[in-house]
Amino acid sequence: MKDIAKKPYIYEIEPTNHCPYKCIMCPLGLGKMTRPKGFMKLEVLSTLLSQFPGEQKLVRLHHFGEAVMHPEISTMLEMINDQDLIPILSLNPATLTPVLVEKIISGMKKGAVCFSLDSFSDQGLSKIRGIKRSFKD
Ligand code: SF4
Repeated sequence: MKDIAKKPYIYEIEPTNHCPYKCIMCPLGLGKMTRPKGFMKLEVLSTLLSQFPGEQKLVRLHHFGEAVMHPEISTMLEMINDQDLIPILSLNPATLTPVLVEKIISGMKKGAVCFSLDSFSDQGLSKIRGIKRSFKD
């Protein structure tokens, strides 16, 4: 039997822990996170990517924080693709603006975007994510 515990299947990198939401299931959203807010420097990302094992392909770009709020998210996506790795973003649809969509599309040649959609009503989303913006904004 293979020992899969030695090799994580997915690596997770957190570009930022800034986030406009107040999600009821999240320590960040609930204000319980005490570490300072920040944006990952591109040099740090570069160092991390250089340490990826050859068999590792997927890079999740979300942990705490709304990753696409990183001002250099486009470059980050490009850097990941340039290493022949596949970035995966997960975000709240209400975060997207035309400018942000353009940034994601221009940076990501290969990758995936997952949308977190917790309710089909503005009221339901607001209850879970803590902000009023949802489908219509
Ligand atoms: S969007 Fe994500 S990081 Fe932000 S508060 Fe909600 S669960 Fe936490």
